[in-house]
Amino acid sequence: MHDFVGWDFSQPLIIPGPCAIETEAVAMRSAEFFASLGLSIMRGGCWKPRTSPYDFQGEGEKALHWALSACQKYGISTFVTEVVSHEVDDLIDSVIKETNSPVTVVRQVGTRNAQNFELLKHLGVKRNAVLLKRGMGNTLEEFLSAGEYILAGGNTALALCMRGHRLKSDQNYRFALDHDEIPELKKLTWLPVIYDPSHSTGVQSAVLQIADDALGYSADGLLIDVHPDASIAQCDAKQALSFQDFEKWHRNHKPTT
Ligand code: PEP
Ligand code: MN
Repeated sequence: MHDFVGWDFSQPLIIPGPCAIETEAVAMRSAEFFASLGLSIMRGGCWKPRTSPYDFQGEGEKALHWALSACQKYGISTFVTEVVSHEVDDLIDSVIKETNSPVTVVRQVGTRNAQNFELLKHLGVKRNAVLLKRGMGNTLEEFLSAGEYILAGGNTALALCMRGHRLKSDQNYRFALDHDEIPELKKLTWLPVIYDPSHSTGVQSAVLQIADDALGYSADGLLIDVHPDASIAQCDAKQALSFQDFEKWHRNHKPTT
């Protein structure tokens, strides 16, 4: 039924990885670790859309090369990375072609580009899988309409990702949590709904509890920030899980389906 990376969603799809592929070592250590847990998908930002122009913007094409080599080396078949423009999307295609990479690259559209309709149209007429995040100020209807731009182009390899929003105030976390809206969203769409407990909470100690809660609210998967050495992470260090914490959770957690 679903057309997203060949996953049948009878079990939740767990997508872990560092917020950014900062170095070759981060790519290699991450791919090796996730493969050792039996996972075949990882995420990492190569191009980072940052709120401040003075913050780390990602290593771009270099990072993509590191990630593709690391995934290939350790047998990670699918890599998820953010596209910040249609040029970046096309560049990913040419790098895959030039390097003859066997790795499938899912195009993540971040919250800041969630209503970049020209980008969405571009991704809609291509056939690469897309992970579309909810715009941080978007209602569920607006979120679904953004997804419709991709479907309308004929691309059905789409998953939606909730990641917190700013439609109500919340004192405790980086964003107001929206995992309780998953059942509502799932009533309105046949698309898989992934939850991101890392960017929504922004707080490492809350991530796994909210991850489990999101599964309780019937999330079809989770996007989780996991970094080999969060103390040196150049982006979102406060929400990154250590390998150890992720591994412990991964071994114990029982899928809800
Ligand atoms: C990310 O996933 O690294 C990211 C930037 O997320 P968001 O677009 O949800 O802020
Ligand atoms: Mn991040």
